[in-house]
Amino acid sequence: VHSSTSKSEPLESNVNTASRPSRLRITDLRVAVDENHDEGRAPIVRIDTNQGVSGYGQGRNGSSKTYALMLKSRLLGENPCDVDRLFRKIKQFGGNGRAGAGVSAIEIALLDLAGKAYGVPVYQLLGGRFRDRIRCYCDTEWETDPKEMGLRLRKRMEGGFTFLKMDLGIRQLQGIAGTVITPGVEIEPKYIQQPFVHPFRYVQLTEKGIESLCQYVDGVRSVVGNDIPLAVDHLGPIALESCIRLARALDKYHLAWLEDILPWQYPELLARLSASCETPICTGENIYLKEGYRDLFRLHAISVVHPDVLSSGGIMETKKIGDLAQDFGIGMAIHHNVSPIGAMASVHCAAATENFLALEIHAVDIPYWDDMVTGVAKPILNGGFIEVPDGPGLGVEPVAEVIRQHLSPDDPGYFAPTPEWDHEPAPEVLDRLGRGL
Ligand SMILES: [Mg+2]
Repeated sequence: VHSSTSKSEPLESNVNTASRPSRLRITDLRVAVDENHDEGRAPIVRIDTNQGVSGYGQGRNGSSKTYALMLKSRLLGENPCDVDRLFRKIKQFGGNGRAGAGVSAIEIALLDLAGKAYGVPVYQLLGGRFRDRIRCYCDTEWETDPKEMGLRLRKRMEGGFTFLKMDLGIRQLQGIAGTVITPGVEIEPKYIQQPFVHPFRYVQLTEKGIESLCQYVDGVRSVVGNDIPLAVDHLGPIALESCIRLARALDKYHLAWLEDILPWQYPELLARLSASCETPICTGENIYLKEGYRDLFRLHAISVVHPDVLSSGGIMETKKIGDLAQDFGIGMAIHHNVSPIGAMASVHCAAATENFLALEIHAVDIPYWDDMVTGVAKPILNGGFIEVPDGPGLGVEPVAEVIRQHLSPDDPGYFAPTPEWDHEPAPEVLDRLGRGL
C-alpha cells in the first residue's frame, strides 16, 4: 500500500498496513452524505480500522445515514474481513426499499476493506469475473414528444450506449380525453409514479389510451431503430387487466422490458401478466435480501430481475440474487443512480455474476461525477461501458475536495466523528434472538 516514504516519515508509514488481515479490527464508522444527484441524498459510509486502512460503501439514493450509523456499535472491534458473518449479524436491521441501504453500504465497505487487506479486487473475492467491462444504460426521463425522446436516445447511442431506457406511462396520457379511466379517484401527481398504490385504484386504459402509448413507442422506434434494446419504466399505476392489454399491444415493439408495471409485492399478479404477453417483465429495485425475490423466480413472474446493490443487501447478496435468478432462467440487470463509489460496487457485482445484462447509470449529465474518485481511468463511463477496475477493493478512493462541495446541507462535515453511535443499549443476545439463534 505504501510503496515509498521520505526519511523524515516515521517507520510505521513504510509498513504495508494491510499485511495483517487476521488482526484487522474496526475502530470507527462515519458517513458523508452526498446530495447532488437528481435522485437525492446517498450516504457514503467509511469504516476505519486499527491498521490505517479504510473501506468505503454507499447507500441507495434517498436513504438516511441513520440506517448505517445505528449499526456502528455492532461492528466496533470486529474483523472487517469476516464480511459474511458480519452481514448475517446486521442484516436483520435492514428492510425493503431504502431501509436496506445501511446494511448494504456497510457490506460494500467491508468488502472494500477485505479487498484492500488481502490486495485483491472485490470481484475476485466473489469468485472472479465473467467480463472485463460492464454494459451500462442510462435512464432518460419524461418527454411528451416521441420524436424528441427519440433524438435524446439517439444522442445516447452516439455516445456509445448499446442499451436504452425511457419513461412511458399514463403520465403521458394526462390531459388527453378518453384515454384513462380513474373511477372516483383523482391521481395526485406525487403518486403517479408510485406502483405501490395502484391495485386499489383500478386505473384502466381505453383502446385510445393504449393506441396513444403504442404510437409514442412507434415514434421513438422510428428514430432509434429496431436494433437496440429499449426498456421502459414508470408506467403505472395501472390495473392488472389493463397492464395485460397494454403489454400485448406493445409486444410488436419488442421492448427490452416493462419495469415495475405492477408492485413487486404481488408475484402472482406479475406471473399472470408475464404469462399473458411476450414482452419481458422486470422488477426488483426495492426488494431487500434474496429471500424477497424467491417467489418472483419460482412463479416465473418476471424475465429480468433488477436489484439495487445499494439497498438489496450489498454486493455478495446481489450476486446471490443473480445466481438464484439464473437457476430459473432469469437475467439480472442492476439498478443504480449514485456516485462512482456506488457504481463501482455495482460494477464488481456485475463482473462476477454470469447472467448480468446491463447496469443503470444516471450520471451522464453530472459534470463532476468522474472527479469524485481517484484510482481508475477517466472517463469512468466510456462509450457506454465501465471497465472493471483491478485495484484492491472497489478500486476507487473518494476525493475529499470534490465530495465536500456536494455534501447534504445538514451534513455535519466530511466524515465527521460519530461518537454518539458508539453505544447502543440493546444487548447483543437479543440481536441473536432476532435472527432465530
Ligand atoms: Mg426504476
